[in-house]
Amino acid sequence: MPSDRMSTADSDGAIGLTTPELSPLPDTLRLRLGDCRTLPSLPAAAARVIGLARAPEPRLDDFATAIQQDPALTLRLLSMANSAYFSRSGNRVVTCHDAVSRLGLDATLAAAMSFGLPRPGASDILEYDYLWQRSIIAALAAQQLAEQLCPEEAGQLFTTALIQDIGILAFEAVDAERYSQQVPSLRNHDKLRETEHRLYGCDHSLVGAWLALSWGVPAAMAESIAESHGPLEDGNPKRLCLRLSCRIADGWLAHAPAAAFSDLLHQLAMLESLDIAMLVSVLEDLQQRLPTLAKLFEITCPPDINSTTLLAEAKELLFEQNLLLNQRLAEQRHELESLLARHDALDEQHRMDHLTRLANRPWLEKLLVQHFDNAQIGNRPLSVMFIDLDHFKRINDLYGHRFGDEVLIRFAAALENMVREDDIAGRYGGEEFLVIMPNTRRDQASRLGARIRHYLASQPLAQTAGDPLHVTASIGIASLEDADFDTVSAMVDAADKAMYGVKHDGRDGVAHYEESDRN
Ligand code: GH3
Ligand code: MG
Ligand code: MG
Repeated sequence: MPSDRMSTADSDGAIGLTTPELSPLPDTLRLRLGDCRTLPSLPAAAARVIGLARAPEPRLDDFATAIQQDPALTLRLLSMANSAYFSRSGNRVVTCHDAVSRLGLDATLAAAMSFGLPRPGASDILEYDYLWQRSIIAALAAQQLAEQLCPEEAGQLFTTALIQDIGILAFEAVDAERYSQQVPSLRNHDKLRETEHRLYGCDHSLVGAWLALSWGVPAAMAESIAESHGPLEDGNPKRLCLRLSCRIADGWLAHAPAAAFSDLLHQLAMLESLDIAMLVSVLEDLQQRLPTLAKLFEITCPPDINSTTLLAEAKELLFEQNLLLNQRLAEQRHELESLLARHDALDEQHRMDHLTRLANRPWLEKLLVQHFDNAQIGNRPLSVMFIDLDHFKRINDLYGHRFGDEVLIRFAAALENMVREDDIAGRYGGEEFLVIMPNTRRDQASRLGARIRHYLASQPLAQTAGDPLHVTASIGIASLEDADFDTVSAMVDAADKAMYGVKHDGRDGVAHYEESDRN
């Protein structure tokens, strides 16, 4: 290592220091980084420039003085200052001071830092050319985005974005063979970070932050590097610029840029703070500036993209994806609806008596409890009617069971027609039926009893050999006002008891439960 260079290891071991704002490095990795003699390092002059940049009000003069001590760096800055990118007037600058004042503090800092980094082609293992292209695109993108979203940060963001992936070089320095064998393509940044986490317990953003800190960059810059791969949905414009810059660089250099940008647009669609027109103008600006900047940093110029066409294509892809998604959603909704319909149908079957299609006994019992409780709570009337068809066994015996079934079906249909909308008629068992009558007092319930009797007397339920068959019923009624019923079963028993009273008295009649019936 040249003696005029400061490396992490032989500076003050800053990589081992902790600052409260950065997570600590995993122990093994920290020790290996501390022992590593080949970590990316900075020319001493660049280190001094960075040191100066940390002053509260850095002065150009001090920068120039620091840089002059390194002739190679001075030459580089002069050629940058005289390049078409910075030289608008065409006047050539010849002193380090003029070069620095033309470039400005941020560009000087970026140039000084990049000067110390391995150049494209310096490694057979990693694609440095790709990394450099990525850094330059990210740096420019971060700066352009910042000019729109947080102009005061633009200069520092350029430098931060430029070195945000420096941790990759550190990993390569400490563990070249394993790193190069295990890491997937550098082009898949998310996968790369995943693998780093698996191998070393953290990814290159944290290692990069510690490395940059050891070079003496401002703590805020190191923190930004550590957070450079966080989610886009953050709300902080500075972090958004940096995180987005990285994604733009990935998209730019992707094998299928339109697909990559459509993925990016998908995420950006959720961020209301960022409009797509602005992104298009940032990309167009990038396109224009990249060739010059690539030349300044002596790298192969990244491929041209047609930002407008690309984004149009990306938007179309996004639209298609949304369409597909909507279609899938509609299908799922449809499936859910038919499932619910089937569930309802099953539920109804579950509640219904198969022969008469009235409510079955379990369902009646459930409703009885509900209505009893509601009536008690709301202090409202309630009546229950028990109906038992008379001599039904005889009908079966005389005309057959099927005939009996038919009679039960006809009676059920007639009953259903006679009850009011709020009443619930059900089959309690065999030839026994029950009617729940919410909000119904004793006398109103009596009227339904009388109506049923009258109907049965006037309408035959069937014909037998041309003769009408009239059926009679014994009907018992219990109403809440009849007694102090503790439970709904007590009330049903009372109605049953009243019905038996009618049977006892010769059938075909309606009776109310009387408290005196209790024994
Ligand atoms: P009572 O007037 O005392 O009520 O006489 P009953 O014959 O109606 O009463 P009992 O309890 O002795 O007999 C009930 C009859 O109802 C016997 C049974 O065959 C008939 N039954 C019960 N369920 C059904 C059914 O689903 N279909 C048919 N066809 N008959 C049924
Ligand atoms: Mg019976
Ligand atoms: Mg009967």
